[in-house]
Parts: sequence; structure tokens; C-alpha cells
Amino acid sequence: MATQMGSDTANRSGVGGPDDDLVVISATAYEEPALPADAPSASSDDAAAVAAAETAAGGATAAAPADAGGQEAVEDAAEKEEQRPLILKHVVQRGETLWEIALKYGIDVDTIVANNDIPDIDRLQIGQELTILTIRGAIHTVRRGESLWDISRTYNVSIDEIAAVNGIADPSRIQVNQQLIIPGAQAAAAALRREALVSSSGQLLRNFEWPTISGARISSNFGQRWGRMHYGIDIAIPIGTQVYAAAAGTVTYAGPMGTYGILVIIDHGNGVETRYAHLSRPVVSVGQRVKRGQLIAYSGNTGNSTGPHLHFEIRYRGTAVNPLQYLKR
Ligand SMILES: [Zn+2]
Repeated sequence: MATQMGSDTANRSGVGGPDDDLVVISATAYEEPALPADAPSASSDDAAAVAAAETAAGGATAAAPADAGGQEAVEDAAEKEEQRPLILKHVVQRGETLWEIALKYGIDVDTIVANNDIPDIDRLQIGQELTILTIRGAIHTVRRGESLWDISRTYNVSIDEIAAVNGIADPSRIQVNQQLIIPGAQAAAAALRREALVSSSGQLLRNFEWPTISGARISSNFGQRWGRMHYGIDIAIPIGTQVYAAAAGTVTYAGPMGTYGILVIIDHGNGVETRYAHLSRPVVSVGQRVKRGQLIAYSGNTGNSTGPHLHFEIRYRGTAVNPLQYLKR
């Protein structure tokens, strides 16, 4: 993951050999002086960081060697400060919070959120390996057809800044799947991540909003019921209660549909869809973009319904999943 994150400074960290690098990383990557021996900089992590740095040295930009030659001895002392790799790995320890980890590396929470799949930022998984960008920013993987200009515009960061951090000599030559560091883009990237419903590895995330008023009772769960499959959850609410989009998306259906009664379907992209059934009245129409939490309808008792309630489904790649596993806690 952290390969090819080369920069001029990262290139040089390969010079002194792995042991020297360990010292440099330990001395500069953490601001707290009294680091316990078993803290996140344990040897395996550093080994990964060194490996990443060395990979970067090997595969990095062609431009770097040109200016890395004669000046090196002169600049050596000054450069020491900057020798820590730009990318590190951190394995989450018991009891750690995102805020503490950010503090440890001298970055902010957004820089961690922007660069990792974190299903629930309030409950980190012990043992999860986090990618730590040691400057504030975001890592962007170049997509097919994307230019540096596109990326600059997406994050509102200048091409010059991106080129400088990544050691890019010719901004017209970037490669598909190349990972670029976008300095200062962490807030924008974190906002995108916070909206994400599917991880980069294709896992559906626990990141859906509760679709109606809070505190409402679940009257029927997902799964087998009376010998039939129940593809969603039923939330008992009075007719006319507000119903909200569980995530941002595009309305693909709004109207009566068989046993669903009056139904709204929202397509969230990446194969994710939500359905809201037995409504009394939609307030959105097909093709409309909706935001997370936006009012989309009023609940009802239409279709095959035994009493006023909202039937709510999440479907991923065409298959209904248990919403309770994906609604935010
Ligand atoms: Zn139902």
C-alpha cells in the first residue's frame, strides 16, 4: 500500500541502511520523548516503513537523483530533520483513539481519516493497520484518464505544490494507480471518506444514517419471518413521520410498487441502494440528487402493511443485507 510514496527526502532515507533508518524514524516520527518499547514503532512497523522508503528509493521519480548528488554532504545535517518517511504504518493498540494517534504523529484526525478505511471512527479495531501520512494531507491514487490538473482542481491544491511534494518533474506525466500526496487536502478527502458506503476493498461500511426520527422502535427484524424472507427492518412510526435519506444519492424510484405500497428507492453508487416502503407521500422525484439525512418522504401504511411503519432496506450488489449491521450506532 505504502509503496511508491517517494519524495526527495524519502529517497535519501535508504542511504544509511536499515539500522540507521530505524534510528531516524524513531527520533523524528514521534514527538513524545518517552516512548515505551512496545509502542507503535515496534520493529515490525519500522521494518515496513523502511521497506516502503526503500521501495520508494528504488521506484521513485527519475528527477530525484539529479539533485541528490553533490549537494548531499553539505545538506546532510539539515536534511536529517526531514528524513523520516512520508508514509508510516501504525498498528492500533488497545484503548487508543484516533485523536491520540494523530497527536503522536503530529498530524490531525482528518489526515488519518482521509487515508484509511475506518468503519467507525469511535471504535477503532485493535490490530488494524493504519496508513500514517506524516504531513497533513491526503493520499490520492491516480485514476485512468485523470490529469494532475483534475486532481489539483478536486482538492483545490496547486499543481506546483503537488509536484513538489511528490518529486514530479513533468506534471504532464503521471501514471494510473500512482499514489500522490496532496498536501493540505485532508479535510476534503476526509469528508469524502465520511460519506463512503463501500471500502476500497469492496466491503459495505457501517455508515448509513437512521432513516427516520430517533428513538423509534423496530417492530420487525431482517431475515426469515413467518416462513418468508423479510428483506429489511420495520420501524414503527405514526403515519406522516419524516423519512430521511440514509446517505447521499440519486432517487431512482418514487411511487407505488406492489406490496411495497408507495416506495422510494435511492441509488448511492458503487452498487448500493436503499428502499423506503409503505410511505404516504414522497417529497422527491426520480432523478433528484439527495443529501445524507435529507427529507425524502412521509411515512404511511400503504401496500402490504399491517400497521403504520417504515420498511427500510439496504441492498448491496443486488442483495438485501441486514440494515442493523450497517446503520451508524
Ligand atoms: Zn418490512
